Amino acid sequence: PAGNTASPDTAERPIVIQGAMPVETETLVAALDHPEEVHVQGWTFWSGTVAGHPVVVSRSLKGMTNAAAATALAIERFHPAAIINQGTAGGHDPALHTADIVVGTTVVNIGAFKTGARAEGAGTDFATWYPMDLLRTEGSAGQDPSAWVMHKFPGDAGLLAAAAAAKASYTAGHVVEGVIGSSDVWNSELDRIARMHTAFGTSAEEMEAASAAQVAELSHVPFLAVRVLSNNITNGEPYNTTVAGPCQQYVLALVRAYAEHGQVGTTKR
Ligand code: SAH
Repeated sequence: PAGNTASPDTAERPIVIQGAMPVETETLVAALDHPEEVHVQGWTFWSGTVAGHPVVVSRSLKGMTNAAAATALAIERFHPAAIINQGTAGGHDPALHTADIVVGTTVVNIGAFKTGARAEGAGTDFATWYPMDLLRTEGSAGQDPSAWVMHKFPGDAGLLAAAAAAKASYTAGHVVEGVIGSSDVWNSELDRIARMHTAFGTSAEEMEAASAAQVAELSHVPFLAVRVLSNNITNGEPYNTTVAGPCQQYVLALVRAYAEHGQVGTTKR
């Protein structure tokens, strides 16, 4: 077994912290004590400790498919007590600014829709698209009206409490709770963003969290998404990745709060 992988009996199970890009994981990796780099297929993990508690940093790579695979591999390999998906995001709410952090009370997939029916030459209209719950796999998700709802992946209560406890440590911007939307699309159409914000309540968008949340939900692993705004087209704020560092520091404070409050279970297999 690789390095710090939890031993079968009473070892404390690690918290997995995910980030897609190097700039979204480097601060976390640098904060690990006793780091050990582990490669599983095309994905990289760093296992170590933070304040004496086992933590695995995962570079998920970009997008929904990479994030799903990285999450499944992390669950199989490290048996985590919890998974935190964090990194940069684009604002859907003009009241939020670059460096503000959205803690995901829920995460939604803003790439799973059935479009409205439109004739040739009629173009496209996002207002007529309805969400399609891809977790309802028994029948046809497209034909079954009960599947036409936005599936919400809730943030874990213990992780949300730790996020609230860590709030005071974050000085680069505000920390708010909200809905985070994920898809493989970078949306730059303001009408489309406005509908997501009003119809589905999104505060921010990015490309991994809902995918990781779905795999965590099916695997019964507590999950939370934490996203810092690196851009906000709704109020004209340009892309700036330097906010990724302070976000990782905030997540480390969250992890210390979570571990110190005894939320982390031990393996009994
Ligand atoms: N301009 C960057 C784009 C990175 S891809 C580059 O060329 O490298 C987008 C990554 O940043 C994804 O991992 C996603 O989670 C995050 N992200 C930040 N802002 C986003 C936005 N407005 N929409 C979608 N993803 C965003």
